[in-house]
Amino acid sequence: MPALRMYTLNFGVEYVPKSLSVPGGGEHTITTPIYGALVETPDGMVLLDTGIGRRALDDPEFLTACYGADRHPSAAAGEPLEVALAELGFTLADIALAAVSHLHLDHTGGIPLLAAAGVPVAIQRDELEYGRARAAAGTEGEIAFYRDDYLDVEDVTWVLLDGATELAPGVDAIPTPGHTPGHQSYGVHLPATGNWIFTADAADLAENLHEHKRCGSCAEDLEAPLAQESVEHLISLAESRDARLIPGHDPIVWKAIWHPEGGHR
Ligand SMILES: [Zn+2]
Repeated sequence: MPALRMYTLNFGVEYVPKSLSVPGGGEHTITTPIYGALVETPDGMVLLDTGIGRRALDDPEFLTACYGADRHPSAAAGEPLEVALAELGFTLADIALAAVSHLHLDHTGGIPLLAAAGVPVAIQRDELEYGRARAAAGTEGEIAFYRDDYLDVEDVTWVLLDGATELAPGVDAIPTPGHTPGHQSYGVHLPATGNWIFTADAADLAENLHEHKRCGSCAEDLEAPLAQESVEHLISLAESRDARLIPGHDPIVWKAIWHPEGGHR
């Protein structure tokens, strides 16, 4: 059964060296949007990724450590998730289930808000374990985990996933480890436009998909081969589903998607 409708959400902008997205991509800065999707399904609204949060945006020390002093991300005033929902006429109370692709700060910002609103958050079990254990130790290379978003947040109702899972009719989680140990992408099936696959950070840019290049950064160096497998998996899944493949942070693809006011059908 397909989902009913899908809205795209824009949470802000990051400025990152291209090498983060593509191995050997160079140190010049690329401007990349932070985005997610809100899918209306027969089981209620499903939020796919939660963007960057106000707490991280207002933490210049952390932003400098994570991005560099002259590369702080930007977003509209307020909580990016609430602002993005409000633009569509929704609030947190309209969401039945949320999901996070992984625990990097540009995807976890809405978790405290969702917890406070009583919205369950679906995540791969491996990702939460990694975020709670190894990433929580704060070792170098794991800097993009903003622990305030997901550790010591009261009352997060985690929905732990072990692999490929249907999240709601027409929405599924697609495990794509490598960028982080429990990274996941999303499939959305709509009645008129068919299949979509949101790769999240398994493929930041269309270039990753055109050129079969894995993501430029892996939380654990050892996981680079897994990241490569994940890109190949997404490419072949898009082929078999005849899906539109939407990379996780591509400014050109993002602008090329028509964002209709009433959502995609
Ligand atoms: Zn990201």
